[in-house]
Amino acid sequence: MGHHHAPPGLPDTLGAEPGRPEFFAHTHGGAPQRPPERTRLHLNGVLLPDGASVDLWVVDGLIRTEPVADAVTVCRGAWLLPGLVDAHCHVGLGADGAVPAEVAETQARTDRDAGTLLIRDAGSPVDTRWIDERGDLPRIIRAGRHIARPKRYLRNYAEEVEPDELVAEVARQAVRGDGWVKLVGDWIDREHGDLAPLWPQDVAAAAIAKAHELGVRVTAHCFGEESVQQLVAAGIDGIEHGTGLDAATIAAMAARQVALVPTMVNLENFPSFAAAGEAKFPAYAAHMRSLHARRFETIGAAVDAGVPVFAGTDAGGQVGHGLIAAEVGLLAKVGGIDFALGAASWRAREWLGASRLVDGASADLVVFDADPRRDPGVLASPSLVMLRGAAVAGTLVHG
Ligand SMILES: [Zn+2]
Repeated sequence: MGHHHAPPGLPDTLGAEPGRPEFFAHTHGGAPQRPPERTRLHLNGVLLPDGASVDLWVVDGLIRTEPVADAVTVCRGAWLLPGLVDAHCHVGLGADGAVPAEVAETQARTDRDAGTLLIRDAGSPVDTRWIDERGDLPRIIRAGRHIARPKRYLRNYAEEVEPDELVAEVARQAVRGDGWVKLVGDWIDREHGDLAPLWPQDVAAAAIAKAHELGVRVTAHCFGEESVQQLVAAGIDGIEHGTGLDAATIAAMAARQVALVPTMVNLENFPSFAAAGEAKFPAYAAHMRSLHARRFETIGAAVDAGVPVFAGTDAGGQVGHGLIAAEVGLLAKVGGIDFALGAASWRAREWLGASRLVDGASADLVVFDADPRRDPGVLASPSLVMLRGAAVAGTLVHG
């Protein structure tokens, strides 16, 4: 963005048919840059979740709700969402484990360009702290590195410890993260040929208590029934995937408001996980297919019971980045579109301590030229992605 923008009121090539949102391009060529200190912008549109038509101004990267003189209008009649959240994402992780910094940067940029401006990183083998210094990349709330047992998770992903070391490892990862620790709760046990919990329940309870003593929340990867039942009973704060939830555990999660990030996009891969294990582990394969077959009922029951459910794609490892719109589309099948949008925006932001678009908040927002409540597909093509007040992506950003 620069001072050589078109005069205010001069529409760009998107045109301005009557009744259609109008957009005014202010970015021309080159890589997106932070705006000059005194750039003052104005946005008009329907602000979600409230649904009221509002005017917002952006000054020095912050939202202002009182009119600002000499502001340049960016859009009129658009739809405005607080920046999207991917609540289960891995930056710095590839199919074989750690990836170089430039690949991690591409992952973060791909998420950003899809409108994801806040990431809850659910475990990364590399230190991505340098991203915090980059104003053009999404904010990240980290969970350190996954904690698993030797040969009980994907190779090269996790810090691998035996149960007697779990409490100490949780304390180590608590320091690496930003308020979360991530356990692998269950994985295939090759001796039994099926999913099984990694941790004895009393050990998991001691690890969770240690984390809480350190002021850190704990979440866990759980595909099957046993691990999620045990870990919720042990006082855990979050569950990832949760395909093995039963009615009693759902009720316990709702009562204690234990978060669930089902990663619907990744659950679609269960049949391929089953096929890969079929020859050696037929019971595991059948179990995965069964969990997959009832995934919408299981996650839907959690939504209906009032479990706080958030959108996470599980990008990194096996799943591509930038798929938050697909996750919202699948969540909408179980909770409706308003629920799914909230799970990927305002509700998730509130859960993670990020603000809505109130006066003084960082201008982290996504602009659409149609109503995403009417068509979740709209979410896949933001007109503008604004991070810290800078236009970083979208069809309006020519770069
Ligand atoms: Zn994951």
